[in-house]
Amino acid sequence: MQYVELEVVRYAAGMLAAAEEAGHTLVCKSQPCERPIAYLVPDATPPGGDGQDVEQRPAIVCREHLEEMLGHAPEEQPL
Ligand SMILES: [Zn+2]
Repeated sequence: MQYVELEVVRYAAGMLAAAEEAGHTLVCKSQPCERPIAYLVPDATPPGGDGQDVEQRPAIVCREHLEEMLGHAPEEQPL
């Protein structure tokens, strides 16, 4: 089971709405990457951590980077 705190959803939705309103396209937060975002990962681990006390935080990434994190293609997520 997966769960996402609503504050995370609210934050992401607000960011998306603001960007859309301003006519901006948000891009993937993984670097270097300029692809448009496609997924919110609520508990992403920042790259470069040493595995100890790595803080998990939400990340907004493109499909390719999500696939890289998962190690396989993301599943369809019907609403
Ligand atoms: Zn990316």
